[in-house]
Amino acid sequence: MRQLHLILLGSPGAGKGTHAEYLEKELGITHISTGDILREAVAQQSELGKKAQQYMDAGQLVPDELIIELAQQRLQQPDCTSGWLLDGFPRTVAQAEALTQLIEESNGSEPLAVNMTISDQEVIRRLSGRRLCRDCAQIFNVYRDNIGVADPCPTCGGQLYIRTDDQPEAIKERLKVYQDETAPVIEYYRRQGQLITVDVAGEQQQVSQHLLAAIKAPQASEK
Ligand code: AMP
Repeated sequence: MRQLHLILLGSPGAGKGTHAEYLEKELGITHISTGDILREAVAQQSELGKKAQQYMDAGQLVPDELIIELAQQRLQQPDCTSGWLLDGFPRTVAQAEALTQLIEESNGSEPLAVNMTISDQEVIRRLSGRRLCRDCAQIFNVYRDNIGVADPCPTCGGQLYIRTDDQPEAIKERLKVYQDETAPVIEYYRRQGQLITVDVAGEQQQVSQHLLAAIKAPQASEK
């Protein structure tokens, strides 16, 4: 298969991170989550982390110039030469334009954007049940994984926590930001003929396989 450059688009809670982990393994490409990079920067209280934290806690977007520079640097790392999968970037049209320019300046290959669709109601249910492990960063859900409030991580025994931006007020803000800022990115890739759409409402494993099949045969998927 040709070298893959994938962009996962979808509202918060669509399951981008979870499906990206599966696709990374199946396709052998590098998974880049700008949210994970930022959370790490916040945990370390680096310059970037200090600048980003207030926006993230409020469910707002980190300013374009910060995030574009972060993505540029990450995409130039050696592990990106055999393909990449972006999860959480681009989230504004300005970021999408910067990415197009970056690709043109490097190998000029055509990325494929995957629009992962799901209802707001399901998004709210998923986000409010989401738990992350402090040690191995794996994602769980109390509605899916049979996990109690005080349980340790089923994989490594680490402490599970709720992201600050998964609190109800922040979820509301993130959905609004998604409609206002990120939905136009879907149109951007549709106009370029680089978009496929996949319904991600179902059971996780089935959806992962469906996504993989759609990515391998994009012409068969709804554009
Ligand atoms: P995520 O884990 O992708 O949901 O990202 C968590 C938070 O990190 C978002 O709510 C934003 O505050 C910030 N963030 C991640 N990626 C971006 C991006 N591409 N542009 C702006 N902010 C971002």
